[in-house]
Amino acid sequence: MKPAEVVLTPEFSRQVAELYHDMEAAYDKTAGSLQFSCSGCPDNCCDSYFLHHTYTEWSYLWQGLKILENSQRQSITEQAKKYVLESEAVLARGQRPIIMCPLNRDGLCSLYSHRLMICRLHGVPATFIRPDGQKINFPGCFRCQEQIAADNSVVPLDRTQFFRRLVDLEIGLLGHRRMTAPKVKLTIAQMIVKGPPSL
Ligand code: SF4
Repeated sequence: MKPAEVVLTPEFSRQVAELYHDMEAAYDKTAGSLQFSCSGCPDNCCDSYFLHHTYTEWSYLWQGLKILENSQRQSITEQAKKYVLESEAVLARGQRPIIMCPLNRDGLCSLYSHRLMICRLHGVPATFIRPDGQKINFPGCFRCQEQIAADNSVVPLDRTQFFRRLVDLEIGLLGHRRMTAPKVKLTIAQMIVKGPPSL
């Protein structure tokens, strides 16, 4: 059977938006307890190399891309193609790419409402309990770490519940296709270049 585009129902999209909203609220709470803000930072996290693993986020990202003007989407796609080529070259040298995300324009995200999970959680100190019970600690960005050095009473953001909710959404989205669907392991640029996911 010919692959068909993964389409998100309005209710599913609402649940993704709700999850993203809750992530933002948790981020704001942790950042607020640190009196931390990205404003004035000399760095930009959007050049960090991250891989993403769900059809849910891939599809939701494309939901946002489709709303953009054609010309803007084309320009982003050209940028994404460059990103893919450059990142492959850097990875082939055994290094981790540091390349600005193709969605970033003049330092700002041009698809802010549809940005991915890690874009919403990165920066502040966080923890994550893996399915095998092992706890992973994320220290936060360099500015957050400076802040924590001055105030070690901060409670890290717990990413676990958000990962679990995303996994639940993914299971619901894929249904019986879950066992056969190819694993997703893509940068945002690759998601853009490949187009919306099909199964
Ligand atoms: S999607 Fe937006 S917030 Fe995330 S890395 Fe790209 S530009 Fe930055």
